[in-house]
Amino acid sequence: MQLSGDLLLTLQEVDKRLTAKKQELDQITSELEGQAEIPVLTERLEEEREAAIERRAHLARLEVDTDALRERVEGLEERIYGGTVTNLRELTAVEEEQTNARRELMQAEEALGPARLAAEDSERAREDLTTTLAEREKTWSSSAPKLRKQSRSVTAEVDVLEAERAEASESVPSEELTLYDQLLYRRHGIAIARVERGVCLACHITLPLKEASRLRRGDALVTCGNCGRILIPS
Ligand SMILES: [Zn+2]
Repeated sequence: MQLSGDLLLTLQEVDKRLTAKKQELDQITSELEGQAEIPVLTERLEEEREAAIERRAHLARLEVDTDALRERVEGLEERIYGGTVTNLRELTAVEEEQTNARRELMQAEEALGPARLAAEDSERAREDLTTTLAEREKTWSSSAPKLRKQSRSVTAEVDVLEAERAEASESVPSEELTLYDQLLYRRHGIAIARVERGVCLACHITLPLKEASRLRRGDALVTCGNCGRILIPS
């Protein structure tokens, strides 16, 4: 039986480069898809713009209400102190109305401060987002063509490596290839380990003598009893 240690080593080398290239491509793709957050920022800006309009309108309504209440209180005070109301029952009623109107006025005036702050905050947030978005769009317009070019060239490199992988795995027996693929996944890209003086160089465990001599004979695939990797003699 022909040992495929060297073939597997070549395959592992190709896989290492292939994994790195795929990661690079993923990175570029996610940057392209994310478009430097521009769609997200645009949406947030739209929300902030709507919030600013709403808060400004709320503030304007409060100001109008406050002015109206102030006028009402003044009008009622004129009636109370102007001497036009002589009937006691009517005077009491007007006084009560004035008390209520004053309370409403106070509440409206208290609400004015926070409403102004909220409107200002919204305005500032909108301005900040507009600036950020403009900066991102500027950066993006210069980086996007470069990224697209990179994406094309890395995709081509991945294709070449995929072809190399297919070629390198062609002569590997299928059960060995299956084991190799499983190990590659489980052992994070390193499925093969060299053995030197009876020691697995991946996990540094000394092989039992029987396994070591099987490996030397080279008539079957030997795996490390500890880390499970496919062993090849140095
Ligand atoms: Zn090992």
